[in-house]
Amino acid sequence: MGVLEPILLRLVDRARRKSAWLFHFNAGACNGCDIELVACLTPRYDVEQLGIRLEGSPRHADILCVTGPVTRTTREALRTIHAQLPDPKVVVAIGSCPATANVFAGSPVIDGPVDRIIPVDLFIPGCPPRPNAVVQGIAEAIELLVAKGVAQ
Ligand code: SF4
Repeated sequence: MGVLEPILLRLVDRARRKSAWLFHFNAGACNGCDIELVACLTPRYDVEQLGIRLEGSPRHADILCVTGPVTRTTREALRTIHAQLPDPKVVVAIGSCPATANVFAGSPVIDGPVDRIIPVDLFIPGCPPRPNAVVQGIAEAIELLVAKGVAQ
C-alpha cells in the first residue's frame, strides 16, 4: 500500500471515533477535482469502508467539500448549503480553483475564491489533487472535527 498506509491507518483510528459524512458542492469546477474526489470511493481507495461517504443532504453531513472557483450563479447556493450543515462542521476546499480561482481568476462571472464567500478550514492544493491528497485532506478534516468537539 506504500505511501497511503500511514494515512489509511490514521483514518481507521479516526473513523472508529467518528464516521465522517461528506457533502460535495461543485461551485463551477471543470469536473477534474470532482472525479478525483469520487475516485476516493472506488475500490482502490475505498474510504467508505471507514464510514466516510458522500451524503445527499448537507443537513446530515459533517464536512463540506467544495470544488471550483465559485461562480456568480453558485455563490448563494454555497452560502445556503454552508449554513445547512450542522455545527461543528469543517469546510475543505479541493483544488486550486477554490483556493485562488486558478485559471478563472479575473473572470467577471467568478465571485471566488471560496474563502471570500464562506470560512474555509482546509485547502487541498492541486489541479486536480490526486486521490491520495484528497484522502489525506479528509483525514486532517476529521482531526479538525474532533478538535471542534465531535466524537470525543
Ligand atoms: S483545480 Fe483544476 S481540475 Fe480542479 S476544478 Fe479547477 S481547473 Fe478543474
